[in-house]
Amino acid sequence: MNYLAEKDLKYIWHPCSQMKDYETLPPIVIDKGEGIYLYDTDGNRYVDVISSWWCNLLGHCNPRINEAVKKQIDNLEHVIFANFTHKPAITLCERLSKILPKGLCKFNFTDNGSSAIEAAMKVSFQYHTQTGNPQKTRFMALTDAYHGETIGALSVGDCDLYTKLYKPILMDIIRIKSPDCYRCPYGKTRENCCCECFEDAEKQFEKYGAETAAILVEPLLQGSAGMKIYPPLYLKKLREICDKYNVHLLADEIATGFGRTGKMFAFEHAGVSPDIMCLSKGLTGGYMPCALFVTTDKIYNAFYADYGSGKAFMHSHTYSGNPLACSAANAVLDILEDDSVLKQAKENAKYFNEIIREKFLPHKNVGEVRSIGLINAIELVKDKTTKEPLDGKLRTGYQIYKKALKKGVILRPLGDIIYFNPPLIIEKKDMDFVTDIALECLNEILPE
Ligand SMILES: *Cc1c(COP(=O)(O)O)cnc(C)c1O
Repeated sequence: MNYLAEKDLKYIWHPCSQMKDYETLPPIVIDKGEGIYLYDTDGNRYVDVISSWWCNLLGHCNPRINEAVKKQIDNLEHVIFANFTHKPAITLCERLSKILPKGLCKFNFTDNGSSAIEAAMKVSFQYHTQTGNPQKTRFMALTDAYHGETIGALSVGDCDLYTKLYKPILMDIIRIKSPDCYRCPYGKTRENCCCECFEDAEKQFEKYGAETAAILVEPLLQGSAGMKIYPPLYLKKLREICDKYNVHLLADEIATGFGRTGKMFAFEHAGVSPDIMCLSKGLTGGYMPCALFVTTDKIYNAFYADYGSGKAFMHSHTYSGNPLACSAANAVLDILEDDSVLKQAKENAKYFNEIIREKFLPHKNVGEVRSIGLINAIELVKDKTTKEPLDGKLRTGYQIYKKALKKGVILRPLGDIIYFNPPLIIEKKDMDFVTDIALECLNEILPE
């Protein structure tokens, strides 16, 4: 074992890992990053086709982002964000307010996605309390949802792997059956449905709408659930029903924001605005821990009063609005605006999806290939016709992951769902390479 890896295991408890697995697959010591490539200390190259947990947007060590952060660090590294402010944050919010869905204009910073979710939940509850609806104390969320790992965020989530064990210490959430387009109970497809599955939302709103502050939703893409993709119509319907029941529509765009779905924000596909939106991950291009929620004047104004009224939002994080993070985020916006990255990514997305369908769909264990933007997911099943999943205990996805690592591709499947969620700058030659390697590994683990 690499001596650094050995030392790592002596001290470090890695996230989302059974540490015993590291006996056979020690941590890979990354020395340097460039574009979509990572290099370990032995000089091996890896294609980061999962954007280092979906956050790297424009490549590792992007020269323009590097430059912006370097410039900022010699000026100001951090400052308390209560009563103080700085140019990078002001510029960032002004710019974001111009590209966000209509009405989203008041920004509150946190330093990770889960915290942004929790701050947004608190704001929603407090808004209702301060506008004469103190009975609105509950939250709705979809089945298979993922909103982060802290206790509140975990509560609204519904991925067994992360939540099940902790149920006794989590909040009681009203659960709405999420769209399941691959195994649609109504026998429809994404292209021809009218979101018949929305009937469960209608039922829950009728029953619990009056006591609900907000519904949280990952727009169009339930990422951690296995890149489950559903049509924009569902969001439109949510907008309508939220208005009817005075429930906030809380968009978790932490994974979908900044071009991941082919538009700047996933909600744009639906042509409606949420009341609150959470952003992180791509916000700083994957450079710095930074997150925020952004909301409307209407919600903001319900907190705006004389101090003695007790209506302020007394929520803080030490690193709120960190200038280094904001400067990285501004550089990300510079690049997205200047270089027509999004346009190129859109063209490449078409190519990527075509070759993935061509290469993988014929395989006997590939149930579905689904895609949105540059994100593509391949759902492995035991039986194509019955759509019966593989036996999870076999850890097929994990076996494929280990094989692909040896061949220089980071796949990290979600259970038995292989996916690609590359930086937006991925080029065709890399798409060819990662799909060839992934197919090779699939064929080694599940031979035809
Ligand atoms: C990653 C993620 C989060 C949590 O963000 P952290 O920064 O990891 O706390 C929340 N929601 C979604 C949709 C995510 O993908």
